Amino acid sequence: MPRKFIVGGNFKLNGSQSSLKSLVDNLNQGNLSTDVEIVVSPPFIYLDQVRKSVRKDVAVAGQNCFSKGSGAYTGEVAAEMLKDIGIDWVILGHSERREIFKETDDEIGQKVAHALEAGLKVMFCVGETLEQREANKTEETVFRQLAAGVKYIKDWTNVVVAYEPVWAIGTGKVATPNQAQEVHKSIRGWLKENVSAKVADETRIMYGGSVNGGNAATLAQEEDVDGFLVGGASLKPEFVTICNAKA
Ligand code: PGA
Repeated sequence: MPRKFIVGGNFKLNGSQSSLKSLVDNLNQGNLSTDVEIVVSPPFIYLDQVRKSVRKDVAVAGQNCFSKGSGAYTGEVAAEMLKDIGIDWVILGHSERREIFKETDDEIGQKVAHALEAGLKVMFCVGETLEQREANKTEETVFRQLAAGVKYIKDWTNVVVAYEPVWAIGTGKVATPNQAQEVHKSIRGWLKENVSAKVADETRIMYGGSVNGGNAATLAQEEDVDGFLVGGASLKPEFVTICNAKA
């Protein structure tokens, strides 16, 4: 089964009702390829606005959710609540959650499992820092992060892995197509060894980190690059160009 190309727009902590309306209008009017799955992820408070206004062939994702269901957890949002308002996806393990909010590998593994049980699809993010890459610890880091997921994930059908090298996020230093392909290939190999050949073959691996309208098409040609998770450029009209990069 061919892996359908997938492009996510991670708006991070950006936007207002009016700026998100413009972004949605741009997507709604855009000529989007039907061969690509598109998911946009605004901050929690705007999820409902975006879900209600965006075209039906574009899905919506939360940027995080809690590792358990509802209860006495002030300030958290439950996967079940995202589901309840019609959200289909959630981004988990983003490096900003790991670094700024100190989420651990294990916590992220638990979040992924809980979100899947609640019926959400998950973009499970992994990636090394510059320091780790320079110390030749890219694979070690990414495999460790994946292993925390494998410990808890029972069914990989609704999981997409997002490989996002931290040194490429928001820096303008995009990984070269070779660099991305190399890690994507080793992630697929690792999934084959540690989960199954079927999961390795079917799981989509997105690349994230300074993807833009200019570099997306070349990256999209790599064999194991099955999509993109886009930050900064997802807030600009060029997001439509990125969505169509594989077309
Ligand atoms: P960027 O962010 O495209 O702005 O580098 C990617 C991400 O953090 O998902």
